[in-house]
Amino acid sequence: MTDHTHADTLRTPIVAVLGHVDHGKTSLLDTIRGSAVSEGEAGAITQHIGATDIPLDTISGMAGELIDPSDFDLPGLLFIDTPGHHSFSTLRARGGALADIAVLVVDVNDGFQPQTEEAIDILRRTGTPFVVAANKVDTTPGWNPQDGDPIQKSMDAQSERAKSMLDENLYEIIGQLSDAGFSADLYWRVQDFQKNIGVVPLSALTGEGVPDLLTVLMGLSQRFMKEEMAIDVTGPGEGTVLEVKDERGFGATVDTVVYDGVIRNGDTVVVGGQDEPIVTEIRALLRPRPLAEIRTEKEFEKVGEVGAAAGVKIAAPDLDQAMAGAPVRVVRDRTVDQVVDEVKAELAEIEVETADNG
Ligand code: GDP
Repeated sequence: MTDHTHADTLRTPIVAVLGHVDHGKTSLLDTIRGSAVSEGEAGAITQHIGATDIPLDTISGMAGELIDPSDFDLPGLLFIDTPGHHSFSTLRARGGALADIAVLVVDVNDGFQPQTEEAIDILRRTGTPFVVAANKVDTTPGWNPQDGDPIQKSMDAQSERAKSMLDENLYEIIGQLSDAGFSADLYWRVQDFQKNIGVVPLSALTGEGVPDLLTVLMGLSQRFMKEEMAIDVTGPGEGTVLEVKDERGFGATVDTVVYDGVIRNGDTVVVGGQDEPIVTEIRALLRPRPLAEIRTEKEFEKVGEVGAAAGVKIAAPDLDQAMAGAPVRVVRDRTVDQVVDEVKAELAEIEVETADNG
């Protein structure tokens, strides 16, 4: 039911990376960022507050023969920096999950651990589609690393012994997914990604299999999420608070992921607060400076507006009581009361969920 009087366009899907501590979430994000940068083109990635935007061109450069960019019209992927599980479960967007899609990182030797189970519960509860990154394949005894290669190419370069040890570990994870109620298989065997979870063997250390992960994420988003990605780019911005932070010179600020519309400097916004919604006016929208400039300049640069999907720091008066996970809504052409009610309703929903789930 798209209203074509609005300026509809496809936004970037928001990707979250979850998993047990030490299974490699941070390393995986670093590797994705790093190999995107080493693709070499200017604008290979854009660093956001709390997120990294990887455009389709960069992804297709990294994925090589695995991707034909003309198959896609989504602009790329926005990876949000991994929050803890508690914060992930409160990262909601209009009743759904903030992340459109998730990567569950599982150490291929360790298999499922307590936080893996927790993450699975959250993904099930929020109905978030996900793929499993079976990480650390390079730790398989006798592994012959193939830096940055697609995983099947890399597997072809392994000894029979290494391959069968890896297979054993992978099938253990597939079994654990099945115990958790998810039918799963190695991603290249999955016919229907709506019925089966794809498992992508990879190494965040050597980068092998990372092209496959990006390809699967892009493919899933394109096939199953395209309609949800159609947004009114000029509509009043909607977002979710990732974190509340004091910044020198700005006071309390909220790091926000914007998932719909546009937020402009000077906009009146309603932000979910500990006691009641906060109504305030944006003093500054802040983005990280490009890396090259960080040394000489201040950490942030001010921008006039940000459109979904993006991570941005909002500076405004009275944000001390803002809450992580709370909604941020631009008022624009509605009444403040209307938007306050909307925010209250959403907060009530989050509280019910939290109470239900301990
Ligand atoms: P997080 O707690 O899930 O964010 O895990 P980290 O990314 O901090 O990784 C935990 C440890 O595992 C670090 O010492 C990483 O260097 C190591 N690690 C992560 N990925 C890999 C991998 O693919 N191969 C190997 N050999 N080590 C890895």
